[in-house]
Amino acid sequence: MSHRCQEVISLKVIDSHCPGCSILCGLHIIEDGDEIDIDFQKYCPINSGKLCKFGIDLPAIYKNCVETCMVDGELVCKDECISAASRALKSWSSRSKGKNGLVLCLGDATNEELLSLKDFANALGMKCSSGLGHFVGNITNVPLFHDFTGFDIIENSKNIILISLDPYYQYPLVARKLQMAKERGSCISSIGPEGSHLETICENIDLCRPNEVLKRLRELSQHVDRFSLFITQLGIYADPSIVAEINNICSRTSSRVKYLKDYANSEASLAMGFDNYGKSIDEIVSEMESGVITALILVESPLFDTYLDNDRFMKACEKLDTLVVIQSSMPKNLPSNAVLVPLEAFYRRKGTLINVCGRFISMGGDLEGTPDVLRKIMAGLSSAPIGSFLDLTKRSREAYDSWSANNIGYEIVSVPEHNALEGENIHLYVTNPYLLRGMGHQLVKRVGDRLYPEMLKKERYVVKQRVADGVVLSYQRDRRFKGIMGLYE
Ligand code: SF4
Repeated sequence: MSHRCQEVISLKVIDSHCPGCSILCGLHIIEDGDEIDIDFQKYCPINSGKLCKFGIDLPAIYKNCVETCMVDGELVCKDECISAASRALKSWSSRSKGKNGLVLCLGDATNEELLSLKDFANALGMKCSSGLGHFVGNITNVPLFHDFTGFDIIENSKNIILISLDPYYQYPLVARKLQMAKERGSCISSIGPEGSHLETICENIDLCRPNEVLKRLRELSQHVDRFSLFITQLGIYADPSIVAEINNICSRTSSRVKYLKDYANSEASLAMGFDNYGKSIDEIVSEMESGVITALILVESPLFDTYLDNDRFMKACEKLDTLVVIQSSMPKNLPSNAVLVPLEAFYRRKGTLINVCGRFISMGGDLEGTPDVLRKIMAGLSSAPIGSFLDLTKRSREAYDSWSANNIGYEIVSVPEHNALEGENIHLYVTNPYLLRGMGHQLVKRVGDRLYPEMLKKERYVVKQRVADGVVLSYQRDRRFKGIMGLYE
């Protein structure tokens, strides 16, 4: 009998969701030895297999997820960094005496990871923040949750109003839906400093400075058709006054709003009640500088490379007594006092997520991620243990069900005082998944007059055809545009 030598194929296919933004598009991740590839998940009801460029680039992004361990700038083994994190937190806990400790996770974490972080924070007397505390603290959760099962609502809306949004740069899959809506005869309007990309889809573009958006919105509110659809962004730099005002217009006109969110599981950080600190990122950084916050646990944080003023964030971190960074990729900049604890790449972790349409979805990985790391750190602290993974999943499902049942209507909320960006010149970055992870692509945040002169020296600008007076839009870190600078005044 002859034996034929068979080729061994070692492909592992994992059902996954792209962590680029809270749309959480479905895709397959294919592991072939050290190689990572993607395949389209055509049956996924969220995106029917379609991905934006960030999703297509995921193999390159995941290849950079090296599991590095560091203590005070030195490479160490994993056991050593876990022990160092444990020692540092134990010593902080015994010295803290009323000083604040904070867990900050912007949302690149599963529901189970968020709940385990909350338990960990409780056990140490720390608080949690998702970077959306200025919404939670100012206007409660009411306007932040609304139940959309999918994006079909965009295609089927007769009247759509975009507020401070450039879907082509920020959420290309939403841009596609808007194109379809236009083909079906919808009327699409826009208010905000964005203009040039919108001309192909919008009938009315009210181009204005960022400071004027709220005023224009209030003027518009007198004439909004019933059953309109608003689309805007709800991220760490978004304006709570605008979010509250849109909610109130919806309540008065039986309209709806889709708040697009930046990070993978931002929706869940609200549904899980993760943010109990109630402050914005800017306020948190000020408190780190003034010594109100003395210990920080940062989880999957891009802030070292993407905060408005990276140097300021770095210095604020270096003032802390204790800094533990739990991360699946090595930041380009890491403060010298950080204990860096590695986490597996997002697609390798198991657990559940909630997308921006309120879908409760599962990841196909097989590792626990943060709960496992926290259990090991806890072992050195002898505090209450983190529950089993199954228990965390059960609790996240319960939190989700209670959220779905309690946050559907549009109740009138009080509009917080408007903190407009100051200054004659406003440097505006429009956030997208690349920017938010400090990667080589269009990058956008906002800067007022204080940082403006410095930014002019440091950054490169892409010429845009049409933006509001006094606003500079910049798309940084895209090497194709090196040397091109456009200043709009
Ligand atoms: S970044 Fe957002 S829109 Fe793009 S593929 Fe990922 S989840 Fe989908």
